Amino acid sequence: MDVITASPAETEALAARLAATLRTGDVVAVSGDLGAGKTTFVRGAARALGVVEPVSSPTFTIGHRYAAPIPVAHLDLYRLSSLDSEEWGDLEPYFDNTVAFVEWPEHGAAWLPRARAVVTLMHVDESHRRIRISDEDDPGL
Ligand code: ADP
Ligand code: MG
Repeated sequence: MDVITASPAETEALAARLAATLRTGDVVAVSGDLGAGKTTFVRGAARALGVVEPVSSPTFTIGHRYAAPIPVAHLDLYRLSSLDSEEWGDLEPYFDNTVAFVEWPEHGAAWLPRARAVVTLMHVDESHRRIRISDEDDPGL
């Protein structure tokens, strides 16, 4: 699907729709420029999955893991140019028994598990974003 959202709340609501289709072990790749709304999208999805803690950018910590009925992981690979096996070893536990959202998945391309859904966000103007979601299991989403 390919839609334009007019606010962060609309982006979060769209993410909640995707979240309703996700299961433990799913990986969601979330791509787009800085400020495109990747973290906003992950926040909406995490809320819908039952995360009650604040969901903030893990830019300076690589990853967060949140308790929820289905645990949620949120990784941001921005600072990594490309993963080596040692770095991947540190990241792998985030994918264990979670639904995992990965910002800057391009930086982990050789290592990341296959994405169940690929989300791409693009700036349209200050308040609008174009969001494409390709979902392997649900082309009708
Ligand atoms: P990223 O993780 O891609 O760097 P963030 O989600 O951290 O982006 O930030 C997106 C910024 O854009 C936020 O300040 C948010 O309020 C703003 N914004 C404006 N319009 C939208 C929209 N339609 N969807 C998502 N974010 C939006
Ligand atoms: Mg971000």
